[in-house]
Amino acid sequence: MDFIDLKSQYRRIQSSVNARIQKVLEHGQYVLGPECTELEALLADYVGTRHCVAASSGTDTLLIALMALEIGPGDEVITSPFTFIATGEMIALAGATPVFVDIEKHTCNLDPALIERAITPRTKAIMPVSLYGQCADFDAINAIAKRHGIAVIEDGAQSFGALYKGRRSCGLSEIGSTSFFPSKPLGAYGDAGALFTNDDALAKLMREIRVHGQDRRYHHPRLGINGRLDTLQAAILLAKMEIFEDEVQARSRLGARYTELLHEAFAGQHIIGTPVIESHNLSVYAQYTIEVPHENDGRARFERRMKEQGIPTAVHYPLSLHQQPVFAGLAYKEGDFPVAELMAQRVVSLPMHPYLTDVQQQQVVAAVRNAVLN
Ligand SMILES: *Cc1c(COP(=O)(O)O)cnc(C)c1O
Repeated sequence: MDFIDLKSQYRRIQSSVNARIQKVLEHGQYVLGPECTELEALLADYVGTRHCVAASSGTDTLLIALMALEIGPGDEVITSPFTFIATGEMIALAGATPVFVDIEKHTCNLDPALIERAITPRTKAIMPVSLYGQCADFDAINAIAKRHGIAVIEDGAQSFGALYKGRRSCGLSEIGSTSFFPSKPLGAYGDAGALFTNDDALAKLMREIRVHGQDRRYHHPRLGINGRLDTLQAAILLAKMEIFEDEVQARSRLGARYTELLHEAFAGQHIIGTPVIESHNLSVYAQYTIEVPHENDGRARFERRMKEQGIPTAVHYPLSLHQQPVFAGLAYKEGDFPVAELMAQRVVSLPMHPYLTDVQQQQVVAAVRNAVLN
């Protein structure tokens, strides 16, 4: 069994992907070509924002967003410690200081109740992560940001397509950032990402920063990066968008089905934890992540037993960012973020993609039961 099966999807969209790639090879505009512009219009419409700026990765988009907001040395950005390294890393790379705030246990997203006490005169932005495909609580977070006159950047790298109170992820704050890394809910066949905003001035800045801070050819009023998107990736994403909404629905349905099957398998015993999706959210389940008992190396044993049964698993993430050696200089200590630390010990992700069959899900769940109970 594959952890993420990208081949079934390719077979479904093969003719469209191949035709679109062929077109790019023939017109020869390999970087920021016409497919990139077409993709930006399509994605802006899908998310419901005025602007989409397509870029080279979901890491570069975070950096571009921070640069566009002129966040740098001396500034602080509040974010979740329970995320992929890129979130904290780009704040630090921009020269600012990541300020971590603990997560809610049930969603693994930034806990809005803890944000306000972390705000200082240096705080310039809040960067919530919509982890595992479920949006953070943006109404609560935006209200806090508004009170303090600071920006909100969504790291929606895992949540493209997700809904929060009927609105799409990446369209919920000043700037939304996402990734089209192949294994993300909307994945290219290489690195790609995108930024979303309703602010005309920010969109213009982000476009310039994407191309070395250039406002017209070889004229550079500011610093930027090479954040350009390959046209081939845009062509592939256009083909994938033809079926994306169908895949979003499948992801949501399959995630709920896993939870139902796991609850049946454990007959109400609280041995494992299953994802909790808020009633106002639709999750795209970038990961289907459960909690397993962690005492006596329980998670390592669980993963080993799953592997013996032919089921791949992965841990997102084994360390909270404040525990990462690269952030030792921030001088956090064990116990500072108890929920993030606990989840880093307990979480494990099961195979998840829109082409899982009911039989496969039953196999995974039977294996989970074996791995936990035997
Ligand atoms: C994947 C991911 C990123 C980085 O995206 P890339 O396209 O791989 O650079 C950033 N933040 C989170 C939360 C991610 O999951």
